[in-house]
Amino acid sequence: MPTTPSFEAIDLGYQGLVGAANSFLLQTREGPVLIEAGPQACVPALERGLKARGVEPASIRHCFVTHIHLDHAGAAGAIAALGATVHVHPFGAPHLVDPSKLIASSRRVHGESYERWYGDPIPIPHERVHAVSNGEGVIVGELRFQAIETPGHARHHHAWCVRREGSESLLFTGDAAATFVPGSRFIGIPTPPPEYDLDAWRQSIGRIREVGASRLVLTHGGAVDDPESHLRDMRTRLEEEDAWLRRELAESDDDDAVLSRYRPWLHAKANAAGVPPESREVFIGDLWMGMNIMGVRRAMSKPRR
Ligand SMILES: [Zn+2]
Repeated sequence: MPTTPSFEAIDLGYQGLVGAANSFLLQTREGPVLIEAGPQACVPALERGLKARGVEPASIRHCFVTHIHLDHAGAAGAIAALGATVHVHPFGAPHLVDPSKLIASSRRVHGESYERWYGDPIPIPHERVHAVSNGEGVIVGELRFQAIETPGHARHHHAWCVRREGSESLLFTGDAAATFVPGSRFIGIPTPPPEYDLDAWRQSIGRIREVGASRLVLTHGGAVDDPESHLRDMRTRLEEEDAWLRRELAESDDDDAVLSRYRPWLHAKANAAGVPPESREVFIGDLWMGMNIMGVRRAMSKPRR
């Protein structure tokens, strides 16, 4: 019976929570491969996780990132400095070579949590950055990594479809299939500025369905064994989050006032879904909700396509 390629999730201890962000290790006959690097601030946790699995960080030759947000690709420079090539969406590639704009916007969005949970990424020499277009595949040993363009959360977003000859597919979805709030299966919908785009995200969900992977793997949350029901649930959450924010923001120019209504609306849902208090306050706390407000406000200021 064909099965999916195997992988191990390395918990990065992001935001001090278990299950908040992962890097994924896959073994091939040409050596170990990572999908997602995590934030630069979590490099010690990543290195510990690799060594605990008998993998020397310097033996990683390939790192695939779903997008360049710092909780996914912040440590890509540290891995590249040890000799890896980083595979990324063409829109993201220049920002890995020169992360100055990315650093400035991330500092703005993440505020006081920037130094602690993100940290400045190390620039990557351009010859170590491989821009991969939609549909293109990269072969490493017996595995094929195919880029599936999945904008919506960010314009520079790929999901990575991984299979070997005759196997079923695993799809590493980054944030394109949303996130699970740590300690629960409550779906968090991150709508950050400047590229959050509802229509693009809807189309990306369709593209994820078309891949027909038998498992999805969420960077924030891990493996999902029933892709269809997850995609249905996350689509529902996406639509309700967007509609609620859009309506509130249309009625008020005061983001703080919207935040004060968003908090009880979202946290009541999270509580009902069994989200532990520490995850609620950190993972979908005020900074995260503020980011969502900024992202939807920004999207509303753009002409609809
Ligand atoms: Zn992201």
